[in-house]
Amino acid sequence: MPEVVLPAVPPEAPIPRTSTTRAPAPAGPEDSEDYRHRLQAGVWGWIHRSPWCVWVEPIGEGASIWDRRWSEAVEAALARWQELLAIERVNDPAAAQIQVLRRRPPLRLLEGEQRASHGRAELLGARWVRRNGAWQLEPRLQVLLSPNQRQLGIEATALHELGHAFGLWGHSDQPADVMAAVPGAKPVLEIGPRDRATLRWLQQQPSVFAPGSGGPALQPPTGNQGEQEAQQLHDHHAGAGGKVEER
Ligand SMILES: [Zn+2]
Repeated sequence: MPEVVLPAVPPEAPIPRTSTTRAPAPAGPEDSEDYRHRLQAGVWGWIHRSPWCVWVEPIGEGASIWDRRWSEAVEAALARWQELLAIERVNDPAAAQIQVLRRRPPLRLLEGEQRASHGRAELLGARWVRRNGAWQLEPRLQVLLSPNQRQLGIEATALHELGHAFGLWGHSDQPADVMAAVPGAKPVLEIGPRDRATLRWLQQQPSVFAPGSGGPALQPPTGNQGEQEAQQLHDHHAGAGGKVEER
């Protein structure tokens, strides 16, 4: 359970988005083994960390069959990612970096049209969290997953949206990939080799959220500054993340 939580603002100087020392040259768009060239870093630069603390909205006693299907689908998707990432499940939503909610994403105005979607991943911002006396900078992400789909559809959507939340901000141009821009006729339920290779590349990039990754070390709050600011600041930095992806 985090002690003090303090919203953080992105530094004014841009966070470097590629490591000059360790990153391989961006792959060409044709026949590549991954789709790193289609990912885009946001105001916080590349996002990865370990472990990820994930909270999933509980369905409670006496849940309907639809809610149970939603829950099973989300668990199946999380289990897939867990083969590749350290994921800790937390019971307190406030302790999570990623919150998964059973909710249809609100309609969004896109190019003048109201667009409905089954899932949405959103980077809400970042915050300083003091765990065991040490400050760490953590991203805050929200994943909305509609229960109004067939179970396999929910599972595929969950797999895809969780991929965004775990830092894959972009889309593959190949329909068999989990992060495909346009889902094919068959739901993608396996994290394929190109997805894995892209994730491995991401994990080698500098990130402010992964100490030791070569990212810039942002200054944590000092003294009791944290406590004071935590009282003054509320949610007005929410939205400072700015990345939204959906399908
Ligand atoms: Zn997407």
